[in-house]
Amino acid sequence: MIDPFGRAITYLRVSVTDRCDLRCVYCMAEDMTFLPKAEILSLEETDRMCAAFIRLGTTKIRITGGEPLVRRGVMALFDSLGARLGGGGLDELTLTSNGSQLVRYADALHAAGVRRVNVSLDTLDPATFTAVTRWGKIDKTLDGIFAAKAAGLAVKINAVALKGVNEDELDAMLAWCGAHGFDLCLIETMPMGDIDGDRTEQYLPLSLVRSRLKRRWTLDETSYRTGGPARYYAVRETGTRIGFITPMTHNFCESCNRVRLTCTGTLYMCLGQDDAADFRRVLRDGSSDAALDAAIVAAIARKPRGHDFVIDRRQQRPAVARHMSLTGG
Ligand code: SAM
Ligand code: SF4
Repeated sequence: MIDPFGRAITYLRVSVTDRCDLRCVYCMAEDMTFLPKAEILSLEETDRMCAAFIRLGTTKIRITGGEPLVRRGVMALFDSLGARLGGGGLDELTLTSNGSQLVRYADALHAAGVRRVNVSLDTLDPATFTAVTRWGKIDKTLDGIFAAKAAGLAVKINAVALKGVNEDELDAMLAWCGAHGFDLCLIETMPMGDIDGDRTEQYLPLSLVRSRLKRRWTLDETSYRTGGPARYYAVRETGTRIGFITPMTHNFCESCNRVRLTCTGTLYMCLGQDDAADFRRVLRDGSSDAALDAAIVAAIARKPRGHDFVIDRRQQRPAVARHMSLTGG
């Protein structure tokens, strides 16, 4: 599928739940209201959507959330999609997780064909971890990370750079990731959804972080891409990579190859825009696979050129009202 700006759309991110066992301060309000079950796609409906995307040329699927591993029965989806790896049209099946359930699921994920997992970890300090996640325990996440490594999954650590929270730790985190063979990907906060707080206080431009890291580490530019928006550097001292996702300071839209399906069956053609197509209705009104495929192609034809994220004092409202946990990060 080629969008109106000539970009091949080959990557589908699928949120399987809006629920989570954590409440990260930049992602959710503490008293989040979650969606009623009837609004959430069944795993069979989600699988049918993924199958349609694979038919239409999607080669990479990432399962996300909310916390994907708190969705009951989620392994059935991984198993079904895993069966499409290789000859079935899919090249890669991955997930983004907070790690809390990985001790339980790492082996099963590997058996399903998953080879890489992104785990969110913003800090190595137990107290800061609990402050950022509001009620998480760092040990659970660390145990999950090492269970994933032991299961043979390549682990990439995702950390949101937060002013005054983990900015002094990013150097130590790079050293820790290097010591364990994990790539590290730093993310700028994006203005998505109300969070009970002021985002201008959290926002830390990664251009600043990168120049600080360069005082200690030799960062060699690379052409390495994971099909995502991160710009990667090889860290000479560790042999691992560091990536920077900079939606605010660097617009990555020109190479965008992805669309996002929410757990309610809404397809967002851009993370930072409100235009969307409702597929729950299509899935539930008896439409044939041909009609489903045609609806997907029509939605891709509406993919916008890019986002309009701005974080500043004048613009206090989020750029988009929905939370990252609905669309998937
Ligand atoms: N629960 C899983 C996790 O935390 O990895 C998957 C979903 S989470 C929404 C995906 C990613 O989005 C996480 O790395 C998280 O840190 C990031 N994220 C959430 N809200 C964000 C925001 N407002 N700005 C930037 N990144 C955000
Ligand atoms: Fe949950 Fe992930 Fe959002 Fe944190 S970032 S609250 S772990 S969905």
